[in-house]
Amino acid sequence: MSSVTFLGTGGGRMVVLNQLRKSGGFWLKLDDLNILHDPGPGSLVMIHQLGLKPRDLDAIILSHRHIDHSCDVNVVTEAMTGGGFTPRGHLIAPSDCFNSDPVILQYVRPFVEINEIKKGMEITLKDITMKFPVENMHPVETYGVIYTFRSGRLGYIPDTEYFPGLVTAYEGVDYLILNVVRMKTDKRIRHLNMDEAAELINMIRPKKAILTHFGLQVLKSSPEHQAKLISEKTGVEVIAARDGMTVNFKNGNVNNSNV
Ligand SMILES: [Zn+2]
Repeated sequence: MSSVTFLGTGGGRMVVLNQLRKSGGFWLKLDDLNILHDPGPGSLVMIHQLGLKPRDLDAIILSHRHIDHSCDVNVVTEAMTGGGFTPRGHLIAPSDCFNSDPVILQYVRPFVEINEIKKGMEITLKDITMKFPVENMHPVETYGVIYTFRSGRLGYIPDTEYFPGLVTAYEGVDYLILNVVRMKTDKRIRHLNMDEAAELINMIRPKKAILTHFGLQVLKSSPEHQAKLISEKTGVEVIAARDGMTVNFKNGNVNNSNV
């Protein structure tokens, strides 16, 4: 059974710094592959609270270097590799996570296989293909991904300003996870707002879309209500993620754990 478990659904400074929602990213189980995406602050804590085991991870992926996506990357890399004593797994991130002012510390790098994301790059791990179809428009180098696994294709659109190329890049995915930080656009911080997320869902038309990474404006406007409005408008099933929620990709079941 393939699934996504949300170790956090907060985004934006106010929500993350005040922990109005947790901020640990999400854990994908796609067939036999376990991947942690965007381990923000508290990721390691949430992994253990939810009974997940870091040593089951095959890869850790950073969409970009911002602290709400990368804060726990070093400690989770240690946890994945038994404190570095059993090197294994992949650490996949844009080049600026490794270079100037690197968020990935030098000392953990020998513990893992490093892959620097480039636009259009494809990696296959345990028969699951991940493709990084386009570079997002965000203040730092940022990439989403499309996974192809037995139950279909899953796209993840992390932080970005809206641009039409997203529609062609994610065309044909069955499931789509979108980071929606804002209700209204602030051009300075380059995030999707709710109307733009609705537009993308309407154009891409996955079987199911999951909204996450909510900023304060979105939390105040009820992510669940916004998801319902987008569903009604587009006819696509849209849900708002909650901390600790697991969504199964095969039958669409949603489990809420009590975190
Ligand atoms: Zn960001």
